[in-house]
Amino acid sequence: MFGTLIASLALLSGLALVDSQRHARIVEDIARAGDQVSAYQEAAFLSAREMSLLRASAANPRSAERLQVLGADTETYQATLRIAELNPEATTVVQRQIHLRQVITWYLSMLDNGRIAEARETLESSIAPTYRRNGAKLLELRNRYQQEYDERVAAARHDSRRLLVAGILTFVLSLVVIALFVWNSRAHRRQVETMATTDLLTGLPNRIAFTEQLQRALVVARPDRAAPGVTVLTVNINGFRHVNDQLGPHVGDRLLAEAGRRLSTVVRDTDMVARTGGDEFAIMLRDLDPDRAEDVAARLREAFDEPFQLDDVTVDLEISIGAATAADGDDVSTLLGNADSALHDAKEQHDGYRRFTGQSGQDSADRLTLLGDLRRALTDASQFTLHYQPKIGLGGAGLIGVEALARWHHPARGPVPPGQFVPVLETTSLIHPFTERVLSIALQQAREWLDAGHRIPVAVNLSTRSLLDESFPDRLAALLASTGVPGELLGIEITEHTVMSDPSTTIEALNRVRALGVKTSIDDFGTGYSSMTYLKLLPVDELKIDRSFVADMVTDSSSRALVASSVDLAHNLGLTVVAEGVEDAATAAALAALGCDTAQGYHFARPQSAADLTAGLPERQPA
Ligand code: C2E
Ligand code: MG
Ligand code: MG
Repeated sequence: MFGTLIASLALLSGLALVDSQRHARIVEDIARAGDQVSAYQEAAFLSAREMSLLRASAANPRSAERLQVLGADTETYQATLRIAELNPEATTVVQRQIHLRQVITWYLSMLDNGRIAEARETLESSIAPTYRRNGAKLLELRNRYQQEYDERVAAARHDSRRLLVAGILTFVLSLVVIALFVWNSRAHRRQVETMATTDLLTGLPNRIAFTEQLQRALVVARPDRAAPGVTVLTVNINGFRHVNDQLGPHVGDRLLAEAGRRLSTVVRDTDMVARTGGDEFAIMLRDLDPDRAEDVAARLREAFDEPFQLDDVTVDLEISIGAATAADGDDVSTLLGNADSALHDAKEQHDGYRRFTGQSGQDSADRLTLLGDLRRALTDASQFTLHYQPKIGLGGAGLIGVEALARWHHPARGPVPPGQFVPVLETTSLIHPFTERVLSIALQQAREWLDAGHRIPVAVNLSTRSLLDESFPDRLAALLASTGVPGELLGIEITEHTVMSDPSTTIEALNRVRALGVKTSIDDFGTGYSSMTYLKLLPVDELKIDRSFVADMVTDSSSRALVASSVDLAHNLGLTVVAEGVEDAATAAALAALGCDTAQGYHFARPQSAADLTAGLPERQPA
């Protein structure tokens, strides 16, 4: 369309150029024809004037006119010469004029000699007819050129009109082209702007667009505090990363697009759904009573009830939602931070929805401070150490291994228990360098003990994120190789929650770890509702019964029953059983009676430094 217009404009301009050149030629022709016409006109006039002077001189030979005849004759002669230059047809006129000049000279001399009658005779018979013929010829030529002149003028008029029309058309077309160009470049700019603010995968607005709109909504909402304000929901798809890892990014992308679509169908047109990154979405609810946000969240979660059907794969997904309502003075980052903090709480508590409260804000501020401190601690070799708690064989085998437990000595706060900082690390990728640090210290310690002749297996606790990290088995292999510790002297403990969060990936990861000779245990058994099916499939060597059941087993019959059935179950599956948190001799005896293999707890030994533990070891154990 645009191209056609430009081509038409170029064609029209080209035609107008050719036309105006032609027009210039016509104008030149007109000027030439005009010159011709006036030259004949002038010659005819001079000739007629000469004749009338001659007649006057014949009537009155002494008159002044007679004297003028010769001058007039010269002028007429020159005029006819000019005509002859313009048009060869006029040469006969010139020749006649030359002949006339001679006759006139005779005629004048007759007058001078008083031969008046003879002179008059010459005038009438010779001079006058020649003048008539010349005059007639001049008029004929003049008329012919006049006609040509008139035709050229008419053609020029016609051409001018055409040029005018072409000029107007070119002008209008140029205007259209300019308008189209402006419109086109605006549309292009709009397209670029849209691309910059749209998430290409889902077609939803992206983070930039969302924060801009939120900023505007906050400015509008502020002056009128009586009206319900702006509520932001941040939404995260639970376990999306694993789906993406297992089924591939192609399926992951389609899931995200479908998730975006489902979220959009729930909210009102005046609300805004955006994809703010990875599997994170943000929703802005305008003019909504904050208490209604929970209803919206419930409907959003219901939108995920139906499984996602992608070709022949069916995927069940759930979402977690954090909500925060703008308070007076809140800016975009505060509001989004509050919603994120509520989302974090929702995930932490395995709760689908959490609304931000001031309390949670304080928590999240503390969390951020703690994270900053942890980040620094990871660059400082001295803040993290390990304590080792012995595992004791109940059949009298004595020390059969140790569990490494992380200790953080905060420079200002002093010792911080792992239950307080490990969950915080687990929410970020800082967990990876932390795990690496713990493994490296534990393996160096195992190496030292080995060098001192003590073969002591060391078990390290592993976070879900570390185990499910693709590169973990390779990094573990590298650490084993660099310390030269045999794989079977290392154990990893993963909680029952880890297993249940993603059983199939866990099984795969455990197999890769076990291939290095490393022993595997399920920690805190009894708290995570493991199904028998998974237990049978899990590549593990050991089951650690959670200390909450062990502590109560002497006094509480149901705890005792659970411990007893766990021991049986483990043995049936060919696993070793460890009872955690054994605090007294009665519990130890009860466990021994149930056939439990190993015990761990304050009754035997507290977690202690490597130096203390080494000091308590017999002089030298057989290697
Ligand atoms: P866990 O793996 O179940 O470790 C056992 C916890 O019980 C330890 O607490 C230990 O000090 C405590 N304990 C041992 N015997 C007794 C007893 O007789 N009575 C009582 N009441 N408690 C006993 P700790 O060191 O505070 O560790 C808590 C949890 O932190 C651990 O539970 C483990 O899940 C986690 N953790 C510790 N170190 C690490 C680590 O390096 N990496 C990871 N990912 N998690 C760690
Ligand atoms: Mg443990
Ligand atoms: Mg435990």
